[in-house]
Amino acid sequence: AAQAADIRFDNVYARLPEAFHARVAPARFPAPAIAALNPALAETLGISPDFLASPEGVAFLAGQDLPDAADPLAMAYAGHQFGGWVPQLGDGRAVLLGEVVGRDGIRRDLQIKGAGRTPFSRGGDGRAALGPVLREYLVSEAMHALGVPTTRALAALVTGETVARETELPGAALLRVARGHVRVGTFQFFYARENLDALRRLTDLVIARNHPEAAEAERPALALLQAVVAGQAALIARWTSLGFIHGVMNTDNMSAACETIDYGPCAFMEAYHPNTVYSSIDQFGRYAYANQPRIAQWNLAQLAQCLLPLIDADQEAALPDAQAAVDAFAETYEAERLARFRDKLGLEEARPEDAALVEDLLEAMAEGEADFTLTFRGLCALPDAGGPETDAAVRALFKRPEPFDAWARAWRSRLAAEPRPEAERQAAQRAANPAFIPRNHRVEEAIAAAATSGDLAPFARLLTAITRPFEDQPERADLMAPARPEEAVTRTFC
Ligand code: AMP
Ligand code: MG
Ligand code: MG
Repeated sequence: AAQAADIRFDNVYARLPEAFHARVAPARFPAPAIAALNPALAETLGISPDFLASPEGVAFLAGQDLPDAADPLAMAYAGHQFGGWVPQLGDGRAVLLGEVVGRDGIRRDLQIKGAGRTPFSRGGDGRAALGPVLREYLVSEAMHALGVPTTRALAALVTGETVARETELPGAALLRVARGHVRVGTFQFFYARENLDALRRLTDLVIARNHPEAAEAERPALALLQAVVAGQAALIARWTSLGFIHGVMNTDNMSAACETIDYGPCAFMEAYHPNTVYSSIDQFGRYAYANQPRIAQWNLAQLAQCLLPLIDADQEAALPDAQAAVDAFAETYEAERLARFRDKLGLEEARPEDAALVEDLLEAMAEGEADFTLTFRGLCALPDAGGPETDAAVRALFKRPEPFDAWARAWRSRLAAEPRPEAERQAAQRAANPAFIPRNHRVEEAIAAAATSGDLAPFARLLTAITRPFEDQPERADLMAPARPEEAVTRTFC
């Protein structure tokens, strides 16, 4: 039978010098049990799902019975939180068990979030509650299914203990899988300490692991910066195209592997408005929907600063190229965003008027308080030739449909210039516009059922829907609908 010793760990990060991490053992949990398990991801990692579901597997997932090849540690990092500098953060409640090279040849971190206190815990208890663990599981797996680079969820565990938040809550842990947990804040940690040797090792590691093409460049550190800028621009454009709002885009929550990471008070927008904020801790809307690209670029400017001494021993001399690399974010982001929205509108070719067509629809949606996801999904079903009668289902999403009618006329004249036949256009559009997203009220409903009565059925049903987001699922149509006013979630918590 498969066992923990069969898991092929190869822990590169653990072999870095002392300053990078603190060795820790995960906390002992009184009664760990699986709340959710991801067999497909286990297979990708080369880990037997049957093993993980067995009592020995649960002990492994809970970090209680680790094979010798695991090398558990907490990573050191710093960061800007809401713009304020914090010189030391680090994994305060996460333990990196090690790295596993999967069946696909990709190296992935296996991390337990909620594994107890570490030297980086500061005032925190090192624990996680079931609600946020299930939210991260749902949203990260939805993002993956939507084609967005993201950390993944291998398992959610209940621990058998309660954690003290505003009330006593069921304790939980998330087994998180990532192409790396190095953050902008990891670079900042060493730059602030003027530890040039560590910066160099970190840079080499991230290049080798996540951006290997940068190794061939004349100045690899500059090429790394350019690669992270491009990767983040593409990533944030995907968020924009889906109405995703991260909620806490601090530099410690921005991955050098360019994956979405650290799901906290995140949310998918329902009625479209560019200033939408859900996060309860984002008082001033710093991380509002439309601010995300600006903030990403600000975070990347912090990364650029950290890389200056590696780009050129004379940091002044490195400045122009580093600045140009950061400036390039705006253009790459706009190009990626336009490409995503062209796909959403069913446009195969690129024409100069397309950007205005996108903006005009978004403006009508903002004015009409139209549901972001349903509007775009609704467009997939509309015929090339049509009008208010054929468009009734989409029109109904707008408080005032006339601006949509005017827009639809412009869209149809643009479609007329496209070579693709109607059915092909509609199919392509259905693959770009999800029917299902993890709607906030449904996520909260699933969490509440699990946390208050141990009922995981709503969680499992929602997970099924959102991991096949582009399929029509008539039997789960209720999960497509926006919240009714009395169901609406206006604030999210972490
Ligand atoms: P986050 O807002 O989740 O990105 O976390 C910011 C920092 O706070 C990180 O260093 C976390 O490890 C730490 N942190 C968050 N929650 C806890 C907790 N319950 N116990 C210890 N550290 C925590
Ligand atoms: Mg150490
Ligand atoms: Mg974080």
